[in-house]
Amino acid sequence: MQALVTRPGHAHTTRIEDLPAVEAREGEVLVRTLEVGVCGTDREISEGLFGIPPEDGPLLVLGHEALAVVERNGYGFTRGELVTATVRRSCGHCIACAEECPDSCLTGDYSERGITRLHGYARELVAEDPGQLVAIPKPLGRLGVLAEPTSICERALRHARTIGGRQPWQLERALVIGAGPIGLLMTYLLRLADVEVWTASLEPENELVEKSGARYVSTHAEELSELGKFDLVVEAAGNAQLMARTLGLLRRSGVACLLGIDPRHQTVELDGRVLGVDTILENRVLFGSVNAHRQDWLAAVADLDRARPSRAVRSFAVRSGATCRGRTC
Ligand SMILES: [Zn+2]
Ligand SMILES: [Zn+2]
Repeated sequence: MQALVTRPGHAHTTRIEDLPAVEAREGEVLVRTLEVGVCGTDREISEGLFGIPPEDGPLLVLGHEALAVVERNGYGFTRGELVTATVRRSCGHCIACAEECPDSCLTGDYSERGITRLHGYARELVAEDPGQLVAIPKPLGRLGVLAEPTSICERALRHARTIGGRQPWQLERALVIGAGPIGLLMTYLLRLADVEVWTASLEPENELVEKSGARYVSTHAEELSELGKFDLVVEAAGNAQLMARTLGLLRRSGVACLLGIDPRHQTVELDGRVLGVDTILENRVLFGSVNAHRQDWLAAVADLDRARPSRAVRSFAVRSGATCRGRTC
């Protein structure tokens, strides 16, 4: 059976390889992979910078953003049903994982499909724990492959709402920095919630942003600080300097959420008064978010289904060869 494999820790070892056939054991559902999204995380693993192989050898099968079809009836699933699967699995020994929240794992000993200690979906067949499968409505079709990056955005929004909602707060105006797949999906989720959205990125224009009803801002033409202040700022560009600046773009009680990854060793600047005065006197918060809880996967599938009639969303699925920015999955 063919699979897309790599040797984590070793750059340029990604290749197609013939692996032994996969058999479903008792308690597993056999699924056939239809689509796999490729994102910044895959690129980092492929460059030897990230990822851990499972115990069965030095190779890791890639693929954590999947759309698959059930091969055999069983465990509440029927042959022909479309599914996707969660990425992160319990470490088995922390209170977060004991409460079925591996997205909040406290030890880092979790496994992740196609990333850490667990083979991914970039192979013909996968045997999966039915508790990790998420049903994809048939009409959603190949858009279902976007469930994983959408779940990342859903978790970030859920946490932003919880943090903002610790005191009286309204999410009326949001800024999304970065118009890659995570920035675009975040833009669409916020628009589905009727939030006034500004999405900023480097290119001169962005049709997909404008079709969502959000306003596109080219950072070459406009300064972010001239757009006014926001209840929520999401950094999805993966630039640590921009991340530091998000605190200064917030309204009173505003929340800034970091989703991009910037692994460069560097020192970033932050206006001392923004941190030392405004953040305190205006109850502002800056937080990071990774991965997703099962409830975020279910919300992602439901919201993608709500957005499905939009032609822009369908073209997005076709055009976004790479999905998330990296390591947020
Ligand atoms: Zn990803
Ligand atoms: Zn854990």
